[in-house]
Amino acid sequence: MITQLSFDLQRNPNARGRDERERILANPGFGQIFTDHMVSIDFTEGQGWHDARVEPYGPLVLDPATSVFHYAQELFEGLKAYRQANGAIVAFRPFANAARFNRSAARMAMPELPEDTFVESLELLVQTDRDWVPTTEGHSLYLRPFMVATQVGLGVNYPSKTYRYMAIASPAASYFAGGVKPVKVWLSTEYTRAAPGGTGFAKCGGNYAAAFVAQRQAVEQGCDQVVWLDAYEHRFVEEMGGMNLFFVYGDRLLTPELTGTLLPGITRDSILTFAAELGLTVAEGKISIEEWQRGCASGELTEVFACGTAAVVTPVGSVKGADREWTVGDGNPGPVTLKIREELMGIQYGTRPDNHGWVHKI
Ligand code: PMP
Repeated sequence: MITQLSFDLQRNPNARGRDERERILANPGFGQIFTDHMVSIDFTEGQGWHDARVEPYGPLVLDPATSVFHYAQELFEGLKAYRQANGAIVAFRPFANAARFNRSAARMAMPELPEDTFVESLELLVQTDRDWVPTTEGHSLYLRPFMVATQVGLGVNYPSKTYRYMAIASPAASYFAGGVKPVKVWLSTEYTRAAPGGTGFAKCGGNYAAAFVAQRQAVEQGCDQVVWLDAYEHRFVEEMGGMNLFFVYGDRLLTPELTGTLLPGITRDSILTFAAELGLTVAEGKISIEEWQRGCASGELTEVFACGTAAVVTPVGSVKGADREWTVGDGNPGPVTLKIREELMGIQYGTRPDNHGWVHKI
């Protein structure tokens, strides 16, 4: 087994020039435009990881019978590189993403990638494409590591014996075009995202493929995002399409507990950790949609917000379900939501102290 990989660097002869890059960075959108390079590492059973390289960004040529196209043996991660106030480029908790990547890999019967290699691959990608890390406040370079099964053949009785790990990068503005504008969410009672024993805690593509129909329904209902509920009663809140949820009762935060059916968000974990420093108490538990609606009606539940790498911290302004609809607070961003957003972004962009060693210099 190869334990220490060394990366080969092949520079992109067609890398975009400064003017084109600056034009793109002026208005990057989200996840539409990619930098000049990408990382690839191959895995072969019996040999381990090999052929680590940073190479020009470009299309892949794959046999139509490649396993991932048929059985979706695939997983991914999402994190960001930030340009801090003093010019330093940092990633936020990349080792937490590495650990989650490997938990997903174990669930998907895929090989684990050493955490150091995962983080090194991202460092090299960001270093090579460092001019693509935006300087605009609130913008960042979104990093997308992923792994796919590459064995050719339609046998479904065993996992692939070969895999490719890759990482790509995309400059990002705000995920929701409205910035901190509150979102309207749709309670999905028709579809379920995950059930016990399934893949809810893993960041595998299949979870998202199965979610698109509900997301489309949310949009048809005039909402921005789906709220997933438990698989049995469609009553207890789990998470959103790409974010975890927090419920604010004055100075007390409640977030759905990690039952194996929701993604353990790194933003969620960070907020649970630093909230006490802001004078808030935190709890993980269960919350039903009735409690959510009743809490808003009585005024006891003052704010609800969603959190994730892409969306940062986003207020939930109103809720809609098949047979109900209500507003959270007065529908505007609340003070706790804004305080948490400010603290998190402050740590990421270097304007607040990094008390937990989360900021990883690149
Ligand atoms: N839930 C889901 C389903 C997600 O896709 C994400 C984004 N990774 C999150 C929650 C938030 O996770 P994180 O804070 O690690 O970005």
